Amino acid sequence: MSALSQLDRGVAPIETGMLPRPFVVRSRREELADCVTLELAALDGEPLAFEAGQFTMLYVHGIGEVAISISGDTAKPDSLIQTVRAVGAVSQAICGLAEGARVGVRGPLGNSWPVERAVGKHLMIVAGGLGLAPVRPIIYWALANRDRLKSVDIVYGTRAPDQILFARQLLGLSAADGVRVGITVDLADQDWSGQVGVVTDLIPSMLRDPDETVAMVCGPEIMMRFSGQALVGAGVPAEETFLSMERNMKCGIGWCGHCQLGPHLICRDGPVFAYPAVRDLMSVWEL
Ligand SMILES: Cc1cc2nc3c(=O)[nH]c(=O)nc-3n(C[C@H](O)[C@H](O)[C@H](O)COP(=O)(O)OP(=O)(O)OC[C@H]3O[C@@H](n4cnc5c(N)ncnc54)[C@H](O)[C@@H]3O)c2cc1C
Repeated sequence: MSALSQLDRGVAPIETGMLPRPFVVRSRREELADCVTLELAALDGEPLAFEAGQFTMLYVHGIGEVAISISGDTAKPDSLIQTVRAVGAVSQAICGLAEGARVGVRGPLGNSWPVERAVGKHLMIVAGGLGLAPVRPIIYWALANRDRLKSVDIVYGTRAPDQILFARQLLGLSAADGVRVGITVDLADQDWSGQVGVVTDLIPSMLRDPDETVAMVCGPEIMMRFSGQALVGAGVPAEETFLSMERNMKCGIGWCGHCQLGPHLICRDGPVFAYPAVRDLMSVWEL
């Protein structure tokens, strides 16, 4: 039975996925000037098991609801970790929630990063700006599965050194963890001695064996468009290159069509897509 016909027949909204569950803010951490990570806990104590790449719809009473990726560790479903940038009414309200505040959660929603495809291969994670949040669960997974992967490389680009998300954690990763991290910024300050430029500048030098690489990319769409081109241009198989797409969402469960991207509904068919499914759509202006 479809979700819509379930609603027609009077099936309770919780069974259709439209009723938020009450969660409480257990802790709050300011990541950047405009960006906060919340640790949420279910009021009923039921953990929210999720897969890397999935998102929730976060609801602030009386203000609204937005899609937010889960940025925590799939091995720790007791804590729902979400990282939010304050850009509009709802995201500002979420960022302003204090410890102990209530928030509604629907989900987990959407598909996941196909992490098992990287087993026995080189894993390259490419992120831009806040796009590091949706790929962080892959990093946790890769650290826990390091011996099953040939290598793990993270390529991260952001606007400026003070905009590096999860900086302590990212800069703390090292060869000892079997992870190589390349960071580049658009604009350096006087203390920055690292790379300056866009992420695509770093991709070719960090790729090991492109034929044997699985790549997972998240960031602003323009960054993903050029990263996809750079990865596949350097020899990473297009079908082994995955991107997490973003459009404004309303229902999050494939009813309303708000997040349509060509033939896809991002909430229902994504947010993670293999590059060939979205390559041409990304070059259509304002699609
Ligand atoms: C699958 C998915 C996962 C997402 N994950 C996250 C996440 O982990 N963290 C997160 O913060 N957001 C995430 N988003 C974006 C989020 O759903 C909202 O779009 C965003 O928080 C803005 O909502 P708002 O209602 O506060 O602002 P709106 O009222 O929608 O927007 C206010 C203004 O900000 C602009 N704007 C909207 N989004 C952005 C943006 N991302 N950067 C800069 N300007 C923007 C709009 O164009 C508009 O001018 C995700 C979206 C999707 C579809």
